[in-house]
Amino acid sequence: MDFNFSKQEKLLQGSVREYFRNKIVPVADELDRKAPLTRRDALGFIENLVSFGYVGSLVPEAENGPGLSHVETGIIFLELGKAWAALGAIAASTSHALTMISKSKRVPGIKYAMDRLMSSKSLGCVAVTEPFAGTDLSAIKTTAIPEGDTYIINGTKTWVSNGSVADMVLVTVKMESAGNGNPYGILLVEKEASFFDTTEIPKMGLKGLSTARLFFDDCRVPGENLLQFDENDSPAAELILPHTSCEKTALALGLTEAALEAAVSYARKRVQFGSPLARFQMIQKMIAEMAIGLDAGKLLYFRSMKMLDEGLKCPKELAMADSFASQTAVDATSKAIQIYGGYGYSDEYPVERFYRDAHCFSVMEGTKQIQQLKISQQITGIDALV
Ligand SMILES: Cc1cc2nc3c(=O)[nH]c(=O)nc-3n(C[C@H](O)[C@H](O)[C@H](O)COP(=O)(O)OP(=O)(O)OC[C@H]3O[C@@H](n4cnc5c(N)ncnc54)[C@H](O)[C@@H]3O)c2cc1C
Repeated sequence: MDFNFSKQEKLLQGSVREYFRNKIVPVADELDRKAPLTRRDALGFIENLVSFGYVGSLVPEAENGPGLSHVETGIIFLELGKAWAALGAIAASTSHALTMISKSKRVPGIKYAMDRLMSSKSLGCVAVTEPFAGTDLSAIKTTAIPEGDTYIINGTKTWVSNGSVADMVLVTVKMESAGNGNPYGILLVEKEASFFDTTEIPKMGLKGLSTARLFFDDCRVPGENLLQFDENDSPAAELILPHTSCEKTALALGLTEAALEAAVSYARKRVQFGSPLARFQMIQKMIAEMAIGLDAGKLLYFRSMKMLDEGLKCPKELAMADSFASQTAVDATSKAIQIYGGYGYSDEYPVERFYRDAHCFSVMEGTKQIQQLKISQQITGIDALV
């Protein structure tokens, strides 16, 4: 396998890196500290990311999408994770919605939604998790009952990224018959046309990202908003998860790289006992471990992205990359704080934000434990969850 990026991939990496160094890194700390970005501010940032392909990166050019490969998507999201992970999560959430919509059969309402999301006129999100259905998605209780040419949605979703600011939500619902022989469906809900309430969830990290509970109380949506998939496609929730791993793992690796670069720079400058910290062997050990984790994580991750680009199914490789990168982000950001000493614990330096942000990647969209169960399932042939 070729582990080098192509010329085109390197160019893409260089241009996003340059843009973030100048435009995002200088403002990330201050903006992230305040509160979730408003819809307007989030759209302002996303609008500038569209030209790099951040929104619906995998949607083919023939459908007016950026048509990036999985490797290219990984490259750009890694750079965004390095610059500001919360903004990465905002872009990823809209992108998931768009990728899902693009995989469904087109009807006029859906085409309109795609155009709005693609041109960054609207923000999107995907609502799967419920108060009693986290890892166990078979416990989903939100229902969609047909009434005439509409569906009536009732239920509560939680932990929805972009939840308070999104214009369009893809809601996973339980229904009598959603086709494909499974009891789940995905409905596109446009906030302006179909009202639902939201409350923001205060959280430890990714503070710039809105994360909300969504309350659907007799929420009526047009029947054509039910996404239709091919016969062979797996259940709705399963369709969403592989795509989220692509961006999520890249963001975790980006945070690891940011923590390593910050720690190296600080260890070179900070002098104790007449020497820079970087001269001390225990500091060098931590830096070496961070660098090994980053490189190993990138190798696992880009192997899985290459496999996806070659049209291969690779649940084991994706889960290995996800599980390893999420743990590495926690370990590396924690070491960065240690290397900064007391200053690492202060919010005057970005390493404490990296540490707070890193913890979400082993929890969201397939926890670390679930990724490990998936790996073992592929190896042993035994599914621990049935
Ligand atoms: C910042 C953030 C953003 C999110 N964004 C979204 C979003 O946009 N859309 C959305 O739908 N959801 C979103 N989520 C929700 C996320 O996907 C869930 O939190 C996740 O699926 C876990 O569900 P849970 O929190 O209910 O934990 P639980 O399912 O209650 O699990 C708790 C713990 O038990 C472990 N566990 C559970 N079952 C098993 C088992 N069988 N074997 C071993 N261990 C097990 C888990 O790994 C975990 O460590 C987000 C979460 C966060 C933190």
